[in-house]
Amino acid sequence: MTTFDEESVVCGACGQVFIHHALTSTNAFGSPDLDTRPPEMRRSTMGAWLQRCPACGYSARKAAKFGERFRPVLDGAAYRSQLASTEYPMLASTFICAALLAEAAGRRDEVGWGYLHAAWTLDDAGKDELARSARGRAADTFLGLLAEGQTFAPEPGVSELVVADCLRRGGRGAEALPVIERTLAQGHQDLIQKILVFQRVLIQRGDTSPHLIREVVEGKQGMA
Ligand SMILES: [Zn+2]
Repeated sequence: MTTFDEESVVCGACGQVFIHHALTSTNAFGSPDLDTRPPEMRRSTMGAWLQRCPACGYSARKAAKFGERFRPVLDGAAYRSQLASTEYPMLASTFICAALLAEAAGRRDEVGWGYLHAAWTLDDAGKDELARSARGRAADTFLGLLAEGQTFAPEPGVSELVVADCLRRGGRGAEALPVIERTLAQGHQDLIQKILVFQRVLIQRGDTSPHLIREVVEGKQGMA
């Protein structure tokens, strides 16, 4: 069961007091997607992952914290137009705005995850083109990190799996193939290797739809 607590937050950027529904507990039953998107019920808690000030639009995990160096980003055209966008669901804009702030802070792993989280909410809203574009931003950020030898997921091989899925689902499967081959050659644990092989099959089929890790575990990936 998912539970929330009402948390009163004083916006660090403008001083507005607002209520955030903070996640106090949830669970996850079933299989994550190939890009680590969790199953229900955690899947439906994304609205609680970030705090967004209703007055100034400042979006962060902890909106009470704000550094003045972020002021030009918060007041900037890119941020304001994303906030005002009627094309994007509000939650997708919140993740993208937080990514813009993370970019200014040089926290590139958070930038990549912010765009990927935006893509998940865009998937849910049926905004396929915008989801593809957000995945592209995530993939480019993640590829830049990998090129510098930096990972952005706790377990070895998972960063590469995430970027491969961002590229495949964003219609850039050909760019994922060298990542997959390089990672396979590193010889990670069995499940990672199997998911990489599955990704390669999906790319060869031109499949850009979401898939579950369970498909690999249960061997239903049609690789016979
Ligand atoms: Zn504010």
